[in-house]
Amino acid sequence: MENKNCIFCLEKADTKEHIPAKQLFKGISDKDLITVPSCKKCNSGFQKDEDFFRQFWASFFMGRSKEAKQLMENEITRSIKRRPALGWQMFKQMKPVNRLSEAGEHLGKATLINITESDRTRINRVVDKIIQGLFFKEFKKIVPKDWSITIHWITPNMEKEQKLQEMTKTMACKVVKEDTFAYWFNFVPDTYQSVWILDFFRIPLFYVFVRETTKISNK
Ligand SMILES: [Zn+2]
Repeated sequence: MENKNCIFCLEKADTKEHIPAKQLFKGISDKDLITVPSCKKCNSGFQKDEDFFRQFWASFFMGRSKEAKQLMENEITRSIKRRPALGWQMFKQMKPVNRLSEAGEHLGKATLINITESDRTRINRVVDKIIQGLFFKEFKKIVPKDWSITIHWITPNMEKEQKLQEMTKTMACKVVKEDTFAYWFNFVPDTYQSVWILDFFRIPLFYVFVRETTKISNK
């Protein structure tokens, strides 16, 4: 490994961190996973947020994705047994709702997850980490500490919109595992300021800007 420093804190790297977490995938061989140099402290520091991230999206998409459903049923059931508090917290936030078509026709039940501000923060922490990892993989550079990583959540309406499809036309697409995770990106040559779209379970969930922070001069 050429880079000997943790890409998150710049201390000495003594482990490899998976981007995104390995536990999100089922039936993938190690060589297909993305890893970046990391110190032990950063590596284990993401664990709780990543558990939450996986559980949140797997339960959210289990009705739409076979892979999400399997994750939910197997691995997650096991991890809830280990840490019941996390499972209970998710359960409290889920609310069954009736799905209606635009014409008002009943389409069956769906689960609505009430997302709190602190959950959103946890999810954003995981997205931030994934972006730092992908940036390193693609550009062989560490996101400078004074740059900003701005995360936008893609809403179901936006997903349908042309806008997103238009955006992806100019972007490179990398598939890590087709049914689980893929990403899109585009960047300004030389500076590596970039835009990213993260797809989980075939659904685009986040678009993210990595930018040099504008320096405001006080004249
Ligand atoms: Zn570190």
